[in-house]
Amino acid sequence: MSSPFSELGRLLGPARVIEDEPTRLLYARDSWPQAIGWTREELASHLPAAVIRPRDEKGVAAVLAWAASQGCAVVPRGAGSGVLGAAVPQRPKSLVLDVSGLTETFRVEDRPDGPTVVCGAGLRGSDLEARLQARGWSLMHFPQSMEDSCVGGWVATDSFGQLSTRYGGVRDQLRWVKAALPDGSLRAEQADLHLGAEGTLGVITEASLRIRPAAAGRQFHAWGFGALEAALDFARAAVSAKPPPSVLRLYCPVDAFFNGLHHRHAARSSPASSWTGAVQSIVLKRIGALRAISPLLGRKWVCVLIYEDEPGFEGGAPAAAPRASALGPGPAMRWWERRYHLDKARLERVFRQGCFADTMDLWAPWDRLEALHLGVLEAVKPHAFAFAHLSHFDAKGACLYVTVAGHGPGDHLAAWKAAMEACVRLGGKVNHHHGVGLAKLPWIDWALDPRWKRLWQAEKARRDFRGLLNPGKLW
Ligand SMILES: Cc1cc2nc3c(=O)[nH]c(=O)nc-3n(C[C@H](O)[C@H](O)[C@H](O)COP(=O)(O)OP(=O)(O)OC[C@H]3O[C@@H](n4cnc5c(N)ncnc54)[C@H](O)[C@@H]3O)c2cc1C
Repeated sequence: MSSPFSELGRLLGPARVIEDEPTRLLYARDSWPQAIGWTREELASHLPAAVIRPRDEKGVAAVLAWAASQGCAVVPRGAGSGVLGAAVPQRPKSLVLDVSGLTETFRVEDRPDGPTVVCGAGLRGSDLEARLQARGWSLMHFPQSMEDSCVGGWVATDSFGQLSTRYGGVRDQLRWVKAALPDGSLRAEQADLHLGAEGTLGVITEASLRIRPAAAGRQFHAWGFGALEAALDFARAAVSAKPPPSVLRLYCPVDAFFNGLHHRHAARSSPASSWTGAVQSIVLKRIGALRAISPLLGRKWVCVLIYEDEPGFEGGAPAAAPRASALGPGPAMRWWERRYHLDKARLERVFRQGCFADTMDLWAPWDRLEALHLGVLEAVKPHAFAFAHLSHFDAKGACLYVTVAGHGPGDHLAAWKAAMEACVRLGGKVNHHHGVGLAKLPWIDWALDPRWKRLWQAEKARRDFRGLLNPGKLW
């Protein structure tokens, strides 16, 4: 019996249309922690009918035209590193359109308004940066998932990277995108339209990003503070300086402990990194005890600053911080060395043992950051052990990045709900750089600017009135 996708196989080549169950199971979820522990039955309700991997933009356009003719839903996917379920198929018999093969386009353009790179949407961050570095250029966007995420995914989630205090998010570096639309056309489009649109308005095939000369050197600094209030005053002053640090992060004492930032010595590894799976699960099943000992893990908020040398910039060292102790360059150097580190196998083990570890990217203006930190950590207390850091600072505010860990799916969900509700109550925004996906859909009105939502809705009705592109997301 011929497959319903045999025409696609003829158009793209049979190896680019994958229908075997093991592959489809892999594409039934992304890196959303709530989906990591899904059973086979739970995965089955998100199983795509096929995974399509076109080689180029013409292939992407052909898939969209074919899907429109069949009324078939299409879920665009980059590297699947999204942590909120944005690439999880919601409609039965969807196609997953894996664009990670779109890697050929790579062009540096030295334009009058600054240098840019035009690149394929499937290029992984680390590959793109390596190609730029080989020519003396560099990106300005470095998410922690640099090795596991693609340019198209960055745009579709409105991503922010670790150097955002200096360079902003991908939104600040993006000049235009090229996208395939449901009618099978390919167009260069206004970048804003696709920023954070989670693949609901088109499939990005190329993007043009601003770049800069590769940094010649870096200066590393770290300070310890007895209280968040003093640390925030210091961070605010650092952000307003010209130039601001490229990296500015403020860790609560527990988060600093887990990242090994209390130590002056750069090479010392994080104490928790040596915990075996068994120790981890024992710890997470006893969050009351963990909370009781947490004051022993450390007492200082740790602020990590990294300045990058550029032609004409000689400065860097921040003025001595009042009410702070200098920790020297060690913690910041250590942070830099481990900036992309995440032990995925370890995280999977946490879920296999019935425990959970998850993160939330909340945002608030400067004057509400302290209250947001206190309120959210208090709200999740009955359900999870929690700690936090602040990052992605700018003139308006910062992202409060909360980690929750504990035991049992019930508490996992309850911790999420409690954190989101506390954030809304305290006047924060429930998202900063992870997007909305499925996890934050119930709180979408506190995630998206209503003006954008209206614009997107109008555009969606024009170009995808049957709702075939990533259905079940954003609206
Ligand atoms: C360990 C870890 C660290 C992370 N660190 C960061 C971080 O520092 N900063 C940050 O912002 N995020 C971070 N993330 C989240 C994630 O990496 C980002 O959201 C990333 O931008 C997703 O890219 P992706 O290619 O994996 O997209 P996917 O997960 O494949 O897709 C994400 C969304 O984008 C859509 N999409 C993907 N490609 C396209 C395309 N070509 N056209 C249209 N729509 C498309 C999908 O439909 C989906 O809605 C992290 C995730 C992990 C697991």
